[in-house]
Amino acid sequence: MGILIVGVVVFAASLLGILTRPVGFLANVWPANAILLGIMVRNPRYAGLAGWVAAFIGYVAADLVTGGTWFITLWLSAANTTGAITGYLLFQLVSEDDRKLQHSVSALYLFGICLAAAAASGLVGGGAANLLFDRNFRTGFTLWSVAELVNNLVILPVVLTFPGFRALSHLWRLSGVPSVAALRRSAPCVALFVSVAAGVLMGGPGAIAFPIPALLWSALTYSLFTTSVLTMLSCIWLLLAIPAGLVDMGTQADLFRSLDSLRLGIALMALGPLTVASVNTGRKNLIARLQHIADYDVLTGALSRSAFFERGQASLDELIPTRGNIAVLMLDLDYFKRINDLHGHGAGDAALKAFFPLVSKNLGADDLFGRLGGEEFAVLMPATALAQATAVAERIRMSVDAGEVSMPSGTPLKFTVSIGVAAFETEPSTSIDAMLAAADKALYKAKAGGRNRVLVHTS
Ligand code: GH3
Ligand code: MG
Ligand code: MG
Repeated sequence: MGILIVGVVVFAASLLGILTRPVGFLANVWPANAILLGIMVRNPRYAGLAGWVAAFIGYVAADLVTGGTWFITLWLSAANTTGAITGYLLFQLVSEDDRKLQHSVSALYLFGICLAAAAASGLVGGGAANLLFDRNFRTGFTLWSVAELVNNLVILPVVLTFPGFRALSHLWRLSGVPSVAALRRSAPCVALFVSVAAGVLMGGPGAIAFPIPALLWSALTYSLFTTSVLTMLSCIWLLLAIPAGLVDMGTQADLFRSLDSLRLGIALMALGPLTVASVNTGRKNLIARLQHIADYDVLTGALSRSAFFERGQASLDELIPTRGNIAVLMLDLDYFKRINDLHGHGAGDAALKAFFPLVSKNLGADDLFGRLGGEEFAVLMPATALAQATAVAERIRMSVDAGEVSMPSGTPLKFTVSIGVAAFETEPSTSIDAMLAAADKALYKAKAGGRNRVLVHTS
């Protein structure tokens, strides 16, 4: 099924390329090879013999239905497929993240791979120009390779960074009312439109660089995929619009040299915003990773102490104006030192790990669950009254009491928890520290009363 799709996509993309093909030239915008390469890189399971044959048939079919002759059709299709296969094989040499352009050097790898794929394709396709248009091999090779490089550099990033249709609808969801924030967010896009239009109107060799500031702005503002799409659209617009102004200049040789130079210039310009967007994505991913490490306890997955206090304070700040209810639980595992002493530190760690799901399955989406230190945890429940919080605490206690951890030796390890509960109607002076201190008093009583129990703080 997937292989059939490969064939159909190549067929459709080839038709599109043929339709934009100026008379006497190889196509100006030829998306099929880049799309094929992108699909294969993202779905290596299609990249077997059957997949490549399906792609080849797609090329041949598109050319034949638009009046190509068998001999030339097979030659051109072989050149197209050769480029995609070369690119595919080279992409296997770089990391998965680089294939998605997530690192600072990814755009340079992309450039190198596209260059090699274009040269391979040009070596096969260049000779066809000899037969088709009576040009020498060198001219044919250059024309073919440059066009191939441009198309790959411009279109491939869009395919490689495509986030999937569901993410796409989320990404480009239209907000009902145009807000100031939405207008500000679309500013790089508007600037890009204006600068590309200005470049096309003014023409001349410098015009291809006009969109660079707006593209860099886009790269710093939007996602990698959106940047790739905007870069592609600008480049295609330039590729289609600017050559029209060149047709009158000099001899045919001059024209080809100018065309090649122009296409290369446009393609190489695309590397700038792509590199910025990749670096920015790498930086954002790194920050997100560091933020995750700072916010979550590595062993248990509960919120870290600092994140618990920070988010708890934010919840509290939301509740105070309406004097909403808030409840906190303090939880401490019973006789934990003994577990460590009897079964080893590893068993203690396993118990702490097992504790997390036993608690969180009893909590709501707005509740915060943090590890305050050692085997001591806290839960903060916004908009929750005492009776409800006590019931939740009791459910947690029972879950832990019923649960067990399987140890490497095979013997199950059982443990219990004591919980102190406190609930408040918020007022401006309410603080997380004071609430936790109250719940801690109740916890102390629960310990003193024999452990494995829930006690409520009464002031
Ligand atoms: P109680 O029922 O009164 O709470 O007794 P307890 O033994 O649980 O209390 P205590 O505070 O005396 O001991 C807590 C122990 O928890 C001491 C420490 O070695 C252990 N502990 C703290 N953090 C970790 C951890 O990350 N892993 C393991 N395995 N043990 C930990
Ligand atoms: Mg303890
Ligand atoms: Mg303790």
